[in-house]
Amino acid sequence: MSKKLYIQTYGCQMNQYDSERIAQVMSRNGYVQTDRIDAADLILLNTCSVRDKAEQKVYSALGSWKEYKDYHEGVIIGVGGCVAQQEGETLLKRVPHLDIVFGTHNIHKLPELVAQVESARARPVEVTFYRDPAYMEDVDGRTQVHGSKAYVTIMQGCNKVCSFCIVPHVRGREVSRPSAKIIAEIETLVVQGVKEVMLLGQNVNSYGKLTPGESGFAELLCRVDAIDGLERIRFTTSHPQDLSPELIEAFANCEHLCEHLHLPVQSGSDSVLARMRRGYTQQEYLDRLMRLRDRCPGVALSSDIIVGFPRESDAEFEQTLELLQSVEYDEIFSFMYSPRPQTVSAKLYDDDVPGDVKRERLKIVQTMQRGITLAKNRQRIGERDEIFVDGPSKLKNGQLMGRTRTNRIVNVVAPEHLVGQMVPVKIISATANSLLGELLWDKFNLESQLEGNRA
Ligand code: SF4
Repeated sequence: MSKKLYIQTYGCQMNQYDSERIAQVMSRNGYVQTDRIDAADLILLNTCSVRDKAEQKVYSALGSWKEYKDYHEGVIIGVGGCVAQQEGETLLKRVPHLDIVFGTHNIHKLPELVAQVESARARPVEVTFYRDPAYMEDVDGRTQVHGSKAYVTIMQGCNKVCSFCIVPHVRGREVSRPSAKIIAEIETLVVQGVKEVMLLGQNVNSYGKLTPGESGFAELLCRVDAIDGLERIRFTTSHPQDLSPELIEAFANCEHLCEHLHLPVQSGSDSVLARMRRGYTQQEYLDRLMRLRDRCPGVALSSDIIVGFPRESDAEFEQTLELLQSVEYDEIFSFMYSPRPQTVSAKLYDDDVPGDVKRERLKIVQTMQRGITLAKNRQRIGERDEIFVDGPSKLKNGQLMGRTRTNRIVNVVAPEHLVGQMVPVKIISATANSLLGELLWDKFNLESQLEGNRA
């Protein structure tokens, strides 16, 4: 009788990918994934620690499972991901009903750790960091594919030391997977029907830099671009310092590389950027964007902004607003500063910007960006574009949703069987969150139309 595995995932796309790997690794040990916690023999939490709020979610979930464990003898509870890496042994002390703690480099060790609990009711903690990229590989390659899109991790860790960031402490130093393995994985995915891949890493732009003889990121992109049958390539996340001329050329020349770049700036103030140890000034950041826009005029841009960084003055905050107005991002993700353990900023600075000031600044940033995104979305009304249909719209109104190459969300009235396909649309209206498109049937080959009518 197969055992049931329930995985709860928090945080970034890297964690989504890792949770797929967890399911795959445990499937080799007879575990089948379930989305019903009350059916689970093994409950795993894949955690995020980027902000305090994310970390607190972990403790409240674990707290809620104590009673469940009391009534379900033999159920095993484990925590993985960034909070596991950050806290290690401390987590076991803090949560007596927890059985396993496995760090960000130890998914491949999970079957062994579960076996230790099953056989000896041990409470293993495994948070070793590895320099050899082999820990990111699955012995029997990638078998779990959901739909026509897939995440592919190309590297892990980060060698930057942004003062606010916990990532280097919980994901370790940069380790790049061998490009041959990445290419082979994507080729397998394409054979299994995948049309779009998202290349993942905490700082993908520095892919291969520390591996003698390995491709650089721009070269890797061109090799992925040459894979037959692959229609779209995306990647995240980038550091502005590593937006190289070669990468800009890749945007201009790689046919399947989508015209969207997520380039976190974090602040518009040079003095705040210096305290954040970001390694660039506002002008250097803008110069790189300008070079990219010269070579790839239609490129869509998104970014991350932190407000309320220690000592952030009104004048420094104003500079962030000025940057938003001058760049006019298509989208931003904005957050209030949250001191993280082990980080330089938590050691050097008091968290001295009052909470209400942080909340006010966040509101101002989000309101300004909503106006910018709405105006840019309205400019697209009447345009024809192509979307990759993902599935039901988040509006839950019977429409389907998809994304343009520039990463805009388009909702459209269309038959279910178009999920996973590229379809031509005309933009007919816009909001700050998404566009409404009309399916251009005439542009669509008769065959799929007939197929739709038959369905
Ligand atoms: S580059 Fe990104 S992941 Fe690396 S330390 Fe800075 S914020 Fe963190």
